[in-house]
Amino acid sequence: MFDHIAFDTPYQTLALPCSIQLTVKRLDLIHPQISGNKFFKLKYNFFAAQQQGLRQILTFGGAYSNHIAATAYAAQLVGFQSIGIIRGEELSTQDLNPTLQTAQDFGMQLHFVSRAEYRLRHESEYLQQLQGQYPQAFIIPEGGTNTLAIQGTQEILTSEDKENYDVICCAVGTGGTIAGLIESSSEQQQVLGFSALKGDFLQHDIQQWTTKNNWTLTDAYCCGGYAKTTDELLQFMQQFEQRYAIPLEQVYTAKMMMGLFDLIQQNHFPANTRILAIHTGGLQGRFQT
Ligand SMILES: *Cc1c(COP(=O)(O)O)cnc(C)c1O
Repeated sequence: MFDHIAFDTPYQTLALPCSIQLTVKRLDLIHPQISGNKFFKLKYNFFAAQQQGLRQILTFGGAYSNHIAATAYAAQLVGFQSIGIIRGEELSTQDLNPTLQTAQDFGMQLHFVSRAEYRLRHESEYLQQLQGQYPQAFIIPEGGTNTLAIQGTQEILTSEDKENYDVICCAVGTGGTIAGLIESSSEQQQVLGFSALKGDFLQHDIQQWTTKNNWTLTDAYCCGGYAKTTDELLQFMQQFEQRYAIPLEQVYTAKMMMGLFDLIQQNHFPANTRILAIHTGGLQGRFQT
C-alpha cells in the first residue's frame, strides 16, 4: 500500500553565509498537495484497517487540517471510503476552504459537528457510538497520531540521515512526526521541534511516545498559536521562497524555518553543525501570495 509513492525524497542544501550546513529533506515533493509526513502516519493505520477487513476510514479535524486532506487522498488512492468529522457546524453553510475542498474532491464525506460534539472526540462512549453508526469504519484520532502513526514516522529517516546530520528539525502539530524522528534518530543526534501551537502540553504528549531524551521543543516561533500568523512570518516566508525556491506554508513549515534561521543567526549551533530540516509539505493550505 502506498508503494507507488516515491519515498526516495530529494534533498536540497541551502547556501548560508556561515559554517552551518542546512539541508532540507523535501517530503513536500512526495505529492503537490498532500503533506508528506501524513503518508508515513497513515501507512500502518491503513494496513491495520485492511487486516481487520475494513475499507472505510473515519477521522477528525478542524477546517485547516492537513491530516483530513491527506486521509481523503490516501483513501481514494487505495479504494477506501473516508469520512471526516469536522469541527464547526457553521462551516456546512459556507464555501469550503482549499483544505476541505481538497478532501471533498478526493471523495471524503464531510460531517460538520458542533464544537461541543467535537470536544467528545477522545471519549470512548462517543467513539463507540460513532463505531455503531459506521460499523465498517477504522477510526483514526484527530491529527492521525497513534502508535501506528509513530511506527510509520520512524521510517522518515534513512540510515544515511542518521549518520550524516547532527541535528534533525521538524514542525510539530500533534507530535506524531517528531516522536518517530526521535525514536529512529541515532544517539549522537539532537531532534529539535518547532511547535505550530502555543503551550507546554505538547511536551508531555511527546514524552508519552518516547523514552529518549535527545530532543527539545520550542513554541517561541508559533506566532501566537495554531494557524495564527504575523507580518514577520509572512515576510520571512516570501523572502525564503524567493531566495531558495522552496515553497513553505504559514501553519507549520514557515514557522519551523523562521525559527531555525533565527537560532542559526543567534549562534545557537556550534560551527559546522550539519542540520537536516524535514519539509513536511502541507502546501494545499498555503496562503496564495
Ligand atoms: C500535520 C503536519 C505537521 C505536524 O505533524 P504532527 O505529526 O501532527 O506533529 C507538520 N507539518 C505539516 C505540513 C503538517 O501537515
